[in-house]
Formats: sequence, C-alpha cells, structure tokens
Amino acid sequence: MRSFNASFAGLGTTIFSVMSALAVEHDAINLGQGFPDEDGPPDIRDAAARATVDGPNQYPPMMGLPALRQALAAHERRFYGLDYDWATETLVTSGATEALTAGLLALLEPGDEVVLFEPLYDSYLPIVRQAGAVPRLVRLQPPDWTIPETALRDAFGPRTKLVVLNTPMNPTGKVFSADELAMIAGLARAHDAYVLCDEVYEHLVFPGRRHVPMACLPGMRERVVRVGSAGKTFSLTGWKVGYLTGPAAMIGVIAKVHQFLTFTTPPGLQAGVAHGLAKDDAFFAGLGAALAAKCARLSAGLDSLGFSCLPVDGAYFVSADISGVGPDLDDTDFCRWLTVEAGVAAVPVSAFYDGGAGVPRHLIRFCFCKKDAVLDAAVDRLRRKLRPAA
Ligand code: PMP
Ligand code: GLN
Repeated sequence: MRSFNASFAGLGTTIFSVMSALAVEHDAINLGQGFPDEDGPPDIRDAAARATVDGPNQYPPMMGLPALRQALAAHERRFYGLDYDWATETLVTSGATEALTAGLLALLEPGDEVVLFEPLYDSYLPIVRQAGAVPRLVRLQPPDWTIPETALRDAFGPRTKLVVLNTPMNPTGKVFSADELAMIAGLARAHDAYVLCDEVYEHLVFPGRRHVPMACLPGMRERVVRVGSAGKTFSLTGWKVGYLTGPAAMIGVIAKVHQFLTFTTPPGLQAGVAHGLAKDDAFFAGLGAALAAKCARLSAGLDSLGFSCLPVDGAYFVSADISGVGPDLDDTDFCRWLTVEAGVAAVPVSAFYDGGAGVPRHLIRFCFCKKDAVLDAAVDRLRRKLRPAA
C-alpha cells in the first residue's frame, strides 16, 4: 500500500474523544471533554428552529448569512469598539476549528515560522505542520502560566510569519494580562507577523478579569484575525458555528480555504446565532459569574481531597495538581485510573504539549461547566475512592 499523508496518518485520536469514550464505557461522570451539560438559551434554539422550519434550507452565501455577519460586526463594535465591515471583514465557519484550520492554511507557506504557546489546543500543530510551517513553541510556566520572556523573544526571528494566541486559554483558564498582550503585540509588529487569535472563550471571563482582544492594541487591527465560537458563547457546542473578523485582505484569503473545507454552515443555525449575538448586555455579563461559581465549587471539593487546583481566570477548565493524591501515576495513567476506578473522567494536561523533556506530568484538567449536582456527585465519587475512611 502507498503511504498516506504523513501529517495525519501518524496522529492519534484527540484526547477529548478518547476520554469521552472511556467515560461512556465505564459510566463515569465526564469532566473531561469541554461541553456544558445544559443547552444554551431557548430563544436562540427557537430562532434556529423557526428558520429551519420556514427555510430556505439551501446553500446560504459562502461567507455566511448577512444577518449573522451584520450581528457579528455589531457585536465587535458593542463589546470591543472594533469596527469591521460586515461584508468584507467577517466570515462564518463550521465551528472555530474550521476557522483556525482555514486561517492557518490561508496564511502559512512552507518554511514559515509560527510562534505558539504551550500548553495548546490540539488542533493547531497538525495544521501548522501540514502547511509546511515550523512551530516555535513557547512554554508557559505553571502554576501561573507566566510567559518566559526571554524564550518568547528568542522564538521570534526573520521567518516568523504568525503568532497563534489563545486567550482565555484552554486548558489553563488563563486570561493573558495587558502587559503580556503588549509584549506579544510589540514582537509581532517588530517582526511584521500576523496574529491568529483564538478567542472562543471571550465571554467566559470571571468577574474582575477582562478579556481584551489583541486586535484592540495599537497597530494590531491590521494584522490580527479574531476567531469566535457560538458553541462556547451560547452553550451550544454541537452547533459548530464559528466566525472570524479581521482585515478584508486576510478574511478574503481565509475564505478561499473555507470555500473548499465546508463552503457553508447550516443556515438555520446561523440565524439562531445571529439572534444570540444581539442578546442584551446582561446575558453576556452573567456568563462569567455563573462559571466562576462552578469553578469555585469544584476546586473547593478537589482541594479538600488533596488535589491542588491552579488559579483560573475564565473558560471551562481548572487544572489540578495530582502530586498530593494517590496513586503515584503520571497524568495520563491517572486520568484513566480516575475514570475506570473512581468513575470521574478528566483530561491529562500533557496532551496539550508537543512532547519532549519538561512536559508537566502532574496536572489534570477538569471541566466545570456542569450542573452543581453533577459537580458535587463527581467530588463524592472521588472522595469515596480517595478518602474511603472520611
Ligand atoms: N479553540 C479552543 C481553544 C477550544 O477550546 C475549542 C473547543 N472545542 C475550539 C477552538 C473549537 O471550537 P468549535 O467547537 O467552535 O470548533
Ligand atoms: N474544546 C473542547 C475541550 O477542550 C473539546 C473540543 C473537541 O472535543 N474537539 O475539551
């Protein structure tokens, strides 16, 4: 048999599918893969249902329904003061995953270098490599996930074409600070690099923290493409409606990839998301507070069992240090053990690394966007396994 594409043939199945399948097999509470256990607002689902029943259900415009693109442009103005022309500077995709893949394939050429931060979302590297580009990984340092400044500066060079920045960040829950954003922006400008900003958790920021898109920094609008996901903002992860905003030239070339990846996204879902993006400020403001309470609830439970939970600024996830909890296993084996023996699934943080020396093996990621009763039941199961006498 002739060989297949080397970038993909050697890849494993994503850790999220692996752990979800194991959770189902062992009837475990699934705090692994990141998805809420309550569907998002009924009015958004109604709007999508109505649009689907009423139709049309034929191909919508390749760039996305005008109503959604206009709602997106209004959203960018309302929340960030960013002015984008809906007709040339917005694009709708089938999930942020497609937006990121299209963005990477459209911007990169063989030999280009891409600066990325580890730990990182697992879709980035295979696509960077498929594009023939060279990743330059900068490892954030736990427990605060600080940027090693010298390593960051060293990662940039004459071939740097792109920076990929995920804030609020999966799996760490970190929101990059104003100083960190300014430092990254300065380096991107100095090297004439683009920035692909994965901001799918933009509205899931805890009270007291603030998400500032990189596109808002001086001189950055012209070199930044911003990626969002209705799945995250509206707790509708199965819909896979994503979007991009950026300068017309960048959106234009990304659309060239999109037209051959998916071409379009289901029109009824797009109509629902257009309705969602127009929801009032109170809706968006409430998201972070609700998640912060869930994070605090789960973290307190885990800490009481000897885990040590790391600080979180937003998104769906808390990382927990397993060093103080038996048995003595690395994060991957510990997650399997936890799923099979304790009936609670989590995800090893090492899965978010490219490998090599120095990858942390003592951290596991729990997803807390679940009903309080589910979080409590998970902690109870863990207590019974880890502290049977208590
Ligand atoms: N980026 C990050 C950081 C994510 O956590 C996710 C969640 N799956 C995605 C992108 C993909 O989002 P979507 O489900 O809209 O494709
Ligand atoms: N973003 C989700 C997570 O990090 C999962 C997405 C997926 O399963 N592809 O858990």
